[in-house]
Amino acid sequence: MDSPGYRAATRIKAALGAASLVTDPGVLAQHTTDARGYVRGGARAVVLPRSTAEVARILAIAHEEGASVVPQGGNTGLCAGAVDPGDDAILVNLARMAALRRVDPVNGIIVAEAGAILADIQRAAAACGCLFPLSLGAEGSCQIGGNVSTNAGGHNVLRYGNTRAQVLGLEVVLPDGQVWDGLRALRKDNSGYDLKQLFIGAEGTLGIVTAVTLALQPAPQRRETALLATADLEGAVALLAACRTRASGLVSAFEYMTAGGIALAARHVPGIVDPFAGRHGHLVLLELDVPAALPADFSLLEAVLAPALESGQVLDAIVAGSVSQQAALWRIREALVAGMKAAGGVIAHDVALPIDRLAAFVAEGAQRLAAVAPDALLLPFGHLGDGNLHYNLCNAPGGDAAALQSRRAAITRAVLDLVAEMQGSFSAEHGVGQLKLAEMLRYKAPLELALMRRVKAALDPAGRLNPGKVLPP
Ligand code: FAD
Ligand code: ZN
Repeated sequence: MDSPGYRAATRIKAALGAASLVTDPGVLAQHTTDARGYVRGGARAVVLPRSTAEVARILAIAHEEGASVVPQGGNTGLCAGAVDPGDDAILVNLARMAALRRVDPVNGIIVAEAGAILADIQRAAAACGCLFPLSLGAEGSCQIGGNVSTNAGGHNVLRYGNTRAQVLGLEVVLPDGQVWDGLRALRKDNSGYDLKQLFIGAEGTLGIVTAVTLALQPAPQRRETALLATADLEGAVALLAACRTRASGLVSAFEYMTAGGIALAARHVPGIVDPFAGRHGHLVLLELDVPAALPADFSLLEAVLAPALESGQVLDAIVAGSVSQQAALWRIREALVAGMKAAGGVIAHDVALPIDRLAAFVAEGAQRLAAVAPDALLLPFGHLGDGNLHYNLCNAPGGDAAALQSRRAAITRAVLDLVAEMQGSFSAEHGVGQLKLAEMLRYKAPLELALMRRVKAALDPAGRLNPGKVLPP
């Protein structure tokens, strides 16, 4: 019974009150299982602090007792970083710290507490005539603290950058309970090391983010959206360059899909149909931000696409004529994962490559997988504009799902070795968590790993904040 976690939980309960601890077994299970159900872990206690001072108190107590602490946001992360495989850690979920401390269109900032839901921040920005450009499938439940800690990417990275690019300042509680107030709202500050960058993408291993100063963008007048067909992936890559040039960088999304992926979604997800009825194999969801100064009846999309349609670079196009048609096109994109899940046996890879090597990667990947996964469906899709493919495989109809799963490790090895050969990344936007530790060992240069270990040791010398994540033992 007596353990560091037990002693810490007892003291935290006394300090914060029993109402700050989750005890309902059903709710507890949601906190201790990761988003994809890969890790069903445990926790000595799940604590819901209400203020930065309470987070500091929790970490100070855990530090004194030698207990491990796992920070948790919306628990939508895809690498099981926010759950613990053991049962003695204290899980700290930021859900009750969701206030927007300041919404300030003059300085173009929002200061949000870490538990604020991403969609709520987007709405607050829109309400003051601005745009908060971070957007991803889990935006209705992920927290900004989780976005910061995973340096989340999503749909609009090619125009606005990933989460790192949206962060001006952070408030962080360090593993020993000290509070670092770095909530500055400056666009320029070269006064020494940029400490906030250490915590962005650290997946909760260096400190608990309690608040964030976010930069807002001017809102576009509207977005124009189209679904386009190209001859192949190479054609889609060429189209990306052409669109970005013609739109002077106003391309806000460029998502790649295959007819095979859409067919699965159409089979398994209600309301989804392939608008091209399978006539085209390679599709792009293109979105442009139209500047406020352009006349309302001017179609930037038409201007950008006309030469591509004329030259045959775009074989076919469906232009969304209303906000609901735009949403319908995005629903197809968002349904791809559900379609694959329903087909069964998904083996997912979240890889990044230099954009000019994407087509060669997919062609070579298919050849190498012909040996290890001959009966799998290869369904790459994703954020082509960022060189980020979700290179997913799933079970072919009538295929042997169990046999595919038994070869999972060999398949992943083949894919990620190829990514490394092509100077890519084995984790483009989802992080490392506890699921990609072997990849850290295999693909990171020893010096890079050593530097990361030094950073960890400097900030968390006892190694008690989110242990077993990011850095392999
Ligand atoms: P959690 O899952 O709770 O935590 C993630 C990591 O951050 C953990 O290591 C945790 O310990 C740490 N952490 C959480 N909060 C804090 C904090 N306050 N301080 C310190 N550490 C903390 N990701 C993308 O990048 N792009 C996508 O397009 C995308 N699409 C997705 C679509 C779906 C349907 C789903 C389910 C997930 C998707 N994700 C995507 C992954 C996930 O949504 C993001 O990684 C998100 O940023 C995680 O936020 P969260 O609040 O759920 O964090
Ligand atoms: Zn993604």
